[in-house]
Amino acid sequence: MTEVSYDVVVVGGGPAGTMSARYAAMRGVSTLLIEEHRAVGSPVQCTGLVSSKTLAVCGIEPGSWVYQEVTGAHIFAPDGSSVSIGGEKVRAYVVDRKIFDRNLLGLAAAAGSEVMIGTKAVGLGDADGKKVLEIISGGRKMCIKAGVVIGADGVQGSIARWSGLGQVQKVLSGVQIETAYDVEETDHVEVFVGSEIPGFFAWAVPVSDNTARIGLCVDTARTQLSAYEHLMQFLHTNPRMKERSARGCSDLLLGCIPLGPQSCTVADGVLVTGDAAGQVKPTSGGGVYMGALCAKIAGEVAAKAVLSGDTSKGALMEYDRRWREAVGRELAVGMRIHKVFGRLGDEDFNELMRFFGEPEVLELINTYGDIDHPSVLLGKLVTKAKAGRMLGVAKVALRAMMG
Ligand SMILES: Cc1cc2nc3c(=O)[nH]c(=O)nc-3n(C[C@H](O)[C@H](O)[C@H](O)COP(=O)(O)OP(=O)(O)OC[C@H]3O[C@@H](n4cnc5c(N)ncnc54)[C@H](O)[C@@H]3O)c2cc1C
Repeated sequence: MTEVSYDVVVVGGGPAGTMSARYAAMRGVSTLLIEEHRAVGSPVQCTGLVSSKTLAVCGIEPGSWVYQEVTGAHIFAPDGSSVSIGGEKVRAYVVDRKIFDRNLLGLAAAAGSEVMIGTKAVGLGDADGKKVLEIISGGRKMCIKAGVVIGADGVQGSIARWSGLGQVQKVLSGVQIETAYDVEETDHVEVFVGSEIPGFFAWAVPVSDNTARIGLCVDTARTQLSAYEHLMQFLHTNPRMKERSARGCSDLLLGCIPLGPQSCTVADGVLVTGDAAGQVKPTSGGGVYMGALCAKIAGEVAAKAVLSGDTSKGALMEYDRRWREAVGRELAVGMRIHKVFGRLGDEDFNELMRFFGEPEVLELINTYGDIDHPSVLLGKLVTKAKAGRMLGVAKVALRAMMG
C-alpha cells in the first residue's frame, strides 16, 4: 500500500476545511486537504446567506458570486403580521456557495496546501506517534501519515467518531428549493415562524427579483413529518407563499444542521472544526461564519503543535480553549434561545412579534442586531422587556437568557 506523509492533513473541502488548511500552510508546515467529492463546493447544501463579517473572517471581498446585498429582514408571525428590521447598511450577502467555497480553496492552495479531490477518508489509526489516515483515491486505497488530522468533514463526518470525541448535541433537518418567487425587495430576506415549522423557521431568500431560495428546518424530535413534507405544506398553505411562489422548482436540497458542540473537540493528533464540531449558530443555523472563525484557529494550533514537536491532546487543547473564548458564550446563549423558541406556541410568537414591532424595541434591534452575535441584542431586549408592560415576553426572553 502506498504511504505518504504530511504535517497536517485536513479532511473536508468546505469552508472549515479550506480555512484550516490555509492557516496551517501559512505557518510553513506541509499540508494536504482531501475532499471526497470530485468538485469542491458541490453539491451545495446551503442557502448562501453569509454576513459581511463572514467575508471579513475569510479575508475575501464580495465578487461576481454575490447575487444580492441584504440590508434587512421581514419577519412573519403565525397570524400573518410582520415586522421589518434592518436599515441602510449591508449586513449580509446572498452568494453562490459553490464559487465561494472554491475561492477559499484557491486561497488555501495559494498558501501552500496541497489538495486531493475525489479522495475519501475511510479510517483513522496510529503508528510511530503519528496519525495514519486511510483513504480511497481514484479507486486506490492508500495510507497517509500525519502529525495532526483536522476533521472538517461536516455534519456527517467520521473523524470525531473515530477519535472518540462523540457526536454534536442535536441535528436539525433542512430542505430548500430554488424557485420562481415574486420578490418584494431584493435586499430583504423573509423569515416565517410558527408551529407549522416545529423547532425552527422557514425562509425566502432572494436570488433575483423573480427567484428565491425557499426552505425550512425542523426539529425532528417535535414532528412526525419530514422537513420536505413540512415545506410542501408551507408552500401550499402559507398565504404569502400561495400568492408569490410558483409551482415546481429548479433546485432541491436536503441537509442537516448540527447544533451544540461536543464537550471536547481535540484528541491526540486530532482537531475537529466547523459543522463536525457543531460550530453553528443555533438561532439561525448559519455555520459558515463560526466554522471559518474556528477553523482558522484549528489551522494555526495544528501547525504550532507540529512545529513544537508536541501534537498531544494537551498541546492541541489550545484550540478548544481559543475557539470557546471566541464564540463559546454565543453558542451557549444561542442554544438556550433555540430551546425556548422550540417551546413557543403561535400566540407566543404573535405576542413576541408585537413586542418587536414597538418603535423603541425596533430601534434596539436595528442598532444592536447582529446575526453572528445575537446575545448582545438579547441582553438589551431583556432589559427593555423587564422595564415595560410586556410581562409574557419578558418571561420568554429571560427564560432564553437564563436557561
Ligand atoms: C438547508 C441548509 C441551509 C443552510 N444555509 C446556510 C446559510 O445561509 N448560511 C450559513 O452560514 N450556513 C448555512 N447552512 C449551514 C452551512 O451550510 C454549514 O454550516 C457549512 O457548510 C459548514 O461548513 P463545513 O466546512 O464545516 O462543512 P461542509 O461544508 O459540510 O464541508 C464538509 C466537507 O467534508 C467532505 N467530507 C465528509 N466526509 C469526508 C471524508 N470521509 N473524506 C473526505 N471528505 C469528506 C464533504 O464532502 C464536504 O465537502 C445551511 C445548511 C443547510 C442544511
